[in-house]
Amino acid sequence: MRRKLVAGNWKMHGLKADLSEVTAIATAAGANPSVDAALCVPFTLIAAAAVAAGDMPVGAQDVHQAAKGAHTGCISAAMLVEAGAGLTIVGHSERRADQYETDAQVKAKAEAAHAAGLGVILCIGETLDERDAGQAEAVVTAQVAGSLPEGADAAWLSLAYEPVWAIGTGRTPTEVDVAAMHGAIRAKLTALIGDEAAKVRILYGGSVNGANAASLLACADVDGALVGGASLTAEKFVPIIEAAASLSQA
Ligand code: PEP
Repeated sequence: MRRKLVAGNWKMHGLKADLSEVTAIATAAGANPSVDAALCVPFTLIAAAAVAAGDMPVGAQDVHQAAKGAHTGCISAAMLVEAGAGLTIVGHSERRADQYETDAQVKAKAEAAHAAGLGVILCIGETLDERDAGQAEAVVTAQVAGSLPEGADAAWLSLAYEPVWAIGTGRTPTEVDVAAMHGAIRAKLTALIGDEAAKVRILYGGSVNGANAASLLACADVDGALVGGASLTAEKFVPIIEAAASLSQA
């Protein structure tokens, strides 16, 4: 049985004034021990958020693949660990689109993060044009094959299926579509890493909120959620953690 993981992605939101939300979310996470929760915050907030979060892991939203060097504006995995991060997102569609990140770079970032001891949430997902063209499964499974790190292991790696057209739009795929895609991702993973694939958590991301979390999290092969907008406040995020917990106790 895979424990559900509910992770928040604060994107470019969050100042020290928001640390009370981190603490409130961490308190709720502690009250729901049947699920794992985490918050991925801006680099500048990691150190303070790690203190404010207590036992709940705090993560980053990106990492550079190199250990050090002339990479202005970038951050290494060791720097994230030193700041107090326990995990990082890699390959978010906003970075694949805005920073032109390739599957090969995403793979290298995941490997660098793991080598430094970080957990990894690796994002994949199709655009609306790709879905409309009937290519969603082919695109997503190709992303899995291209960006899966060497030595992929459920102890440190989760995947997040995030259809690009569902992120921040209020639109979600049907439960049938979510289950079908997660099943296809699991099948691809099995072809790539064998039995370990059954242990790897596959999160769903894209407009998850307190109202739809229970039905999305109940879909076959959905092992948690990656949540953007609805993770910014305890008021919105805690109901998602609780929805995951109630499914985990059932
Ligand atoms: C995300 O950016 O990872 C995300 C899922 O955003 P939202 O929940 O706002 O759609």
